[in-house]
Amino acid sequence: MYNKALNMIIKNNLLKILKTIPENVKLVAVSKTKPNEDILEAYGAGQRIFGENKVQDLAAKQPQLPKDIRWHFIGHLQTNKVKYIAEFVDLIEAVDSIKLLKEINKQASKHNRTINCLLQFHIATEETKFGLDMEEADAILLCDDFKKLENIKIAGVMGMATFTSDKNLIHSEFKTLRKYFEQLKQKYFSDKEYFKEISMGMSDDYQIAIAEGSTMVRVGSAIFGARG
Ligand SMILES: *Cc1c(COP(=O)(O)O)cnc(C)c1O
Repeated sequence: MYNKALNMIIKNNLLKILKTIPENVKLVAVSKTKPNEDILEAYGAGQRIFGENKVQDLAAKQPQLPKDIRWHFIGHLQTNKVKYIAEFVDLIEAVDSIKLLKEINKQASKHNRTINCLLQFHIATEETKFGLDMEEADAILLCDDFKKLENIKIAGVMGMATFTSDKNLIHSEFKTLRKYFEQLKQKYFSDKEYFKEISMGMSDDYQIAIAEGSTMVRVGSAIFGARG
């Protein structure tokens, strides 16, 4: 279904958001659950980075859409599914185990490429099984297996704040993620120019995230409308 009026809304939303984002902050348009027509409308307005959180959806959409789209995988990635996106994915945003890094490395090497990854940290108060704490990140970055991985690059960190109206809490959680970034940079990546991204901020909190040093915001519903 092509709905011109609806798609003008996407373009207007996108341009409005871009005006509020500094030039050095990347916008990931989170297109999960949205059809290709919606993605093309944002693409037509100049957007090139899109985020998906399901392997099956991303693998289906990618061949049908322009090849200069940079796809970010933003969801929890199962090791047995890395192979479906390894050929084209631009950034895997939510890596939280050495097992997953090893598989990404293996699949990347099959395609003779390097895949950029972010380490996902658990910064929210909500219980979730995903995301690292600092101790776990240290364990990954210090282990011998990690040092052998030549087809991945850790480009920075990613995190999600608590779903809350308490702005102070959101500020402090994003501050924590930035602190983790600075610590990792100093400890492991001080000479690595590519370790530079702090992916934080979604539709409801991206302005807080930018104030706290985000370099990459992941915005879905504020661009494409609420998900069904
Ligand atoms: C869905 C999702 C987003 C975008 O959420 P909105 O609130 O729609 O902007 C950002 N990051 C991740 C990891 C997501 O799963």
